[in-house]
Amino acid sequence: MLKSKQIQRLRKVLVVDDQEINRDVLGMILEEQYEVIYACNGKEAVEQIKNNISNLSIIMLDLIMPEMDGFQVLDVINSDEQMKKIPVIVLTSEKSAELLALQKGAADFITKPFDMHEVILARVSRIIELCEGRELILSAERDKISNLYSQNFFYVYAQRLYTLHKNLNLDAVVLNIEQFHSLNATNGREFCDGILAFVGNEINSFLQESEGIASRSDADRFDIYCVHQPDYKQLLERFQSALNKQYPRINIHLRMGVNMAQEGVEPFQQFDRARTACNMVRGDYQRPLMIYNEDILAKELLHHRLINDLNTAIKENQFKVYYQPKYNIQCDPPRLSSAEALIRWKHPQLGMISPGEFIPLFEGNGLISLVDNIVWAQTGKQIAEWKKKYNFTLPVSVNVSRADLFSNDLVSVFKKIVEENGLDYSDLKIEVTESAYTQNSKQLTDLITTLRSIGFAIEMDDFGSGYSSLNMLSSMPIDVLKMDMKFIRNIENSDTDKKLVSLILDIAKYLNLLVVAEGVETTGQLDILKEGKCDLVQGYYFSKPLPAEEFEQLIEKELSIKRD
Ligand code: C2E
Ligand code: CA
Ligand code: CA
Repeated sequence: MLKSKQIQRLRKVLVVDDQEINRDVLGMILEEQYEVIYACNGKEAVEQIKNNISNLSIIMLDLIMPEMDGFQVLDVINSDEQMKKIPVIVLTSEKSAELLALQKGAADFITKPFDMHEVILARVSRIIELCEGRELILSAERDKISNLYSQNFFYVYAQRLYTLHKNLNLDAVVLNIEQFHSLNATNGREFCDGILAFVGNEINSFLQESEGIASRSDADRFDIYCVHQPDYKQLLERFQSALNKQYPRINIHLRMGVNMAQEGVEPFQQFDRARTACNMVRGDYQRPLMIYNEDILAKELLHHRLINDLNTAIKENQFKVYYQPKYNIQCDPPRLSSAEALIRWKHPQLGMISPGEFIPLFEGNGLISLVDNIVWAQTGKQIAEWKKKYNFTLPVSVNVSRADLFSNDLVSVFKKIVEENGLDYSDLKIEVTESAYTQNSKQLTDLITTLRSIGFAIEMDDFGSGYSSLNMLSSMPIDVLKMDMKFIRNIENSDTDKKLVSLILDIAKYLNLLVVAEGVETTGQLDILKEGKCDLVQGYYFSKPLPAEEFEQLIEKELSIKRD
């Protein structure tokens, strides 16, 4: 790394004076810190500037010289964009010349005879710093691709607008390109930079009609801070149709999130909300616009609260495991075969919170593993307790979420639960949602193969909700198929759904997989499934998920059937 003294040495100063003595004195002072080059008249000066244009930091220019004087040199400098960037300090003994020199663009002046060393050095270095600082600002202020502000500057300016022009009521608009990374992968970076530049240009021309500023950040995100628009749908359509016209052969989809101006909400927070809104319509090509509203706000506040309360909830045992039975319906009467462990949060102030509310939230931020480990441990204990109390083994399945699959000690965690509770491996079953199989299949297949080789049974949850096709089933390491509820819902009224269910059942039979039908609520649904040779049924028809104490009644009933 270069030290600051060394960096200073890299800076070049041009001293222009027709008097040798002046050149020598000034040269002596400056050579302490800079590389110094010289010219003894205006003509030579222009030559030197041209030859050193790329690394000249400052020009010390005498005004009165033969051939071409300092003012003429200033004129030449002013007429050239590159030269104009180099600061000039004029050397003068005449007060009257100073004003004209300053008007012609000189940055400062030093009077002759020369002052103390220190004063001259300080002035030179201050001017260089100021000038380099301004250059740096100019180059960092704009994003080179889109020609919009870069993010940091944007927020500074947005904050200034917000503070100084409260009456403008500026809205925060976030514009995003769907699947930009795949566009990049298929069309190349350079081409996609072109798309970004095009969008930047469209935004700029919108801002020429309507007051506001804009920036690009995070590759494909555009932030626009503008006066309120009566119709954001129209604004989005304007950008979208411009893109369609420019790139007729590529599908480029925009989405937009808006947070309207609201008293007391500063730009940073306003854009945070607009971004939240924009993310809510990610991938929704039918409805690519979302305006931030009270419901989203309430949900966000609730989510914050749940995240905050998680530690206390764990400490105070607010999480309870409920059990929902699975019945073998090929027996008459149907027999209790196993159960699924489902978590409930008994919050002291908010009451019972459904997992639908907090599981996706904790899945998103990785906290899910904490919660899942609690459920697995409680379930292991419970199976052991029932074994002891009733001399009856009820296998229970637990849910494993996608985030858990990446934790490398999953195998040892499950082994430990089984061993510590004196269970058999077949007592604890593992549910993995179908979508996990399509997302990281190789890693997942390896993990599941290991778990199965130890003796755990794997149930594929929510089958049919995602993208896996029937023919993928044959290569997947699973023991049980849990058919998604949506198939069962309309099975009585829709012939298609009924046929689909019967097809799934046939294929599962062919592949030697057990099938659980989830969400069975009516006798009609049960009859159809029974006829189709579905093995197991889970649903309100038999029972809702129950706390362990209540679930025991089902076990007792089962034991009484067994005895008869
Ligand atoms: P899931 O694994 O698909 O669980 C089945 C859900 O369907 C449960 O909702 C259950 O109460 C509900 N259900 C069962 N029978 C019926 C019925 O006949 N009709 C209707 N309408 N619903 C029925 P729940 O308990 O609210 O859980 C929702 C989801 O939250 C679960 O879906 C699962 O994905 C997740 N979840 C629950 N507990 C855990 C857990 O401990 N860990 C993880 N990672 N996820 C969990
Ligand atoms: Ca499940
Ligand atoms: Ca399910």
